[in-house]
Amino acid sequence: MNVSFSLYREFLAQYLGPFKWQAALLGFMLLCNSALSVYAPRILRDFIDSLLTSSEMVLLLQIAVWFLVVHVARQLTSGLVGYLGESVAWSTTNLLRSDMLRHALTLDLRFFQQHPPGAMLERIDGDTNQLAYFFSQFAIRFLRSLLLLTGILIAVSLDSWQLGIAVGLFMVSAIVLLFRLRSFGVPFNERLREATANLFGFVEERLSSLEDIKPLGGSVYILRQMHRFIERQVYHGRRAFSWGNLMWPATLVLLGLGTGLILAWGGYLVLNGAMTVGTIYLLFSYMNLMLWPLEELSHQMEELQKAGGNLVRVQALMATRSSLKEGTQRELGALPVKLEFQDVSFQYDEEEGPALDQVSFTVAPGRTLGILGRTGSGKTTIMRLITRLYDPSHGAVKLNGIPVSEFQLDILRTRIGVVTQEVQFFRGTLRQNLCMFDAGIGDGRIMEILHLLHLQGWLQTMPEGLDTLVTSNRLSLSAGEAQRLALARVFLRDPEIVILDEAAARLDPATEMEVDQVLQTLLAGRTSIVIAHRLQSIEKADDVLILEQGKKVEFGAREVLLAEPSSHLNQLMALGLE
Ligand code: ATP
Ligand code: MG
Repeated sequence: MNVSFSLYREFLAQYLGPFKWQAALLGFMLLCNSALSVYAPRILRDFIDSLLTSSEMVLLLQIAVWFLVVHVARQLTSGLVGYLGESVAWSTTNLLRSDMLRHALTLDLRFFQQHPPGAMLERIDGDTNQLAYFFSQFAIRFLRSLLLLTGILIAVSLDSWQLGIAVGLFMVSAIVLLFRLRSFGVPFNERLREATANLFGFVEERLSSLEDIKPLGGSVYILRQMHRFIERQVYHGRRAFSWGNLMWPATLVLLGLGTGLILAWGGYLVLNGAMTVGTIYLLFSYMNLMLWPLEELSHQMEELQKAGGNLVRVQALMATRSSLKEGTQRELGALPVKLEFQDVSFQYDEEEGPALDQVSFTVAPGRTLGILGRTGSGKTTIMRLITRLYDPSHGAVKLNGIPVSEFQLDILRTRIGVVTQEVQFFRGTLRQNLCMFDAGIGDGRIMEILHLLHLQGWLQTMPEGLDTLVTSNRLSLSAGEAQRLALARVFLRDPEIVILDEAAARLDPATEMEVDQVLQTLLAGRTSIVIAHRLQSIEKADDVLILEQGKKVEFGAREVLLAEPSSHLNQLMALGLE
């Protein structure tokens, strides 16, 4: 993938900027470490040459101590480089990770419909992890290799420029050769990554539906499918690894070649008195020292290309804007609120038919609207348009005469309380789940609401009361309990508008009756919508809306509709009584 240099630069400036001193120190340490690495063999050369020309013990001892000092300093800087590298890498990528997460939360539901959780995880965690590797490993290894090779080249050229040219040529041809060799292996690696992603995608999806798979007896079939995924992974893995394993022997062959040349040429020069034995040793050490950076450089060039891919995906996500424009209105106005749908149409997908088709109705302040309709008729969609999870494709949803799109989103989200069909709980204490992590709500108020919803007996069975840990998958709660807790959650926030999407559907008739009475008290003075499958559930509603395939078939005051023998409501009642 071709990534422009400016993309890397912008990215580095944005995320490395806050840590520039640490990064600078890291660079400095890298420089010191490389210099020491190149310098150490030179001490040994002096040692060998001194040994061959004089036999002064003091001098030899001095050299030995000096070598020790340099060696220890080299290890120290190496340790610091490792530490600083990891620290910079994690600080920068954590910054990036939280930026991406914060950004993702501003996106609308349409985006998430097209990007399922697995894919988002891959973006927010997978890509940033790759980039973390890029920062910590690439920066350090690439720079270190480059510095080491440059250092060796300079050191050799200081002794003899002819040797310098020879070593330089050797380096360049070795890097080009290794990079070529490696790029042959890239497709194998890509296929391996794809196979791994497929396997993980499969596992994630199946694990999340375990509760359905097991009772339906799907385990054997799924295991067989999984074997197929693993088979593919092993196949591509074997090829990728074999190719990868070829790299090191190839480097070693290059090393042998270089060493052979040095020994032959160096031996000739030594015999002619143009070079010392120590220098031959020095060149030999440099050859060994070069081995790692040569391999690394070719490797890191490949990593650079990969990181480019991650970077492009990260930037694409960051550039995605929510299709919902944030409004400026901060006040709902007069309370209770008047709620209007004016000629509203909406469709989820271009290809599919409308989920709502020119629906108009008004809920007067403080009244309760009951919505009836078959499954798929658009009831939940109405709720989603009021809370502005989506914008209508036509028409307007208004609160007190102001289109919902003109309100600030968090005003809508906090002043409208919703109980959805699928109640979600989060990992945390019961108190945190009820207050949605708002520490400002006192225990007294919580107990009051739980009492109203007949949950105090249930609470007593909880080992640690409000501090009991609830797990995210809700396995510790029955559906009915979860629904009543969701009701408690809504009323604790004291919203102006309440929408209950089949909130009583999972309660037994006795509990439902109890909850119904409570709801009447709680809904008093608020504008509310009660969505229901069953006629019973809307007995307390002031107005009734009946939907059929996204169209309004009837709307009016419940009393009026009941008095009208030919009304849809009465037809439904007749059916229901049968
Ligand atoms: P139920 O009683 O089963 O809850 P409902 O009346 O609440 O049904 P909606 O959820 O509003 O129905 O759905 C209305 C239509 O929109 C249905 O045809 C449904 O298939 C479609 N629909 C709902 N949600 C989505 C979505 N997220 N993406 C695409 N289509 C959707
Ligand atoms: Mg629904």
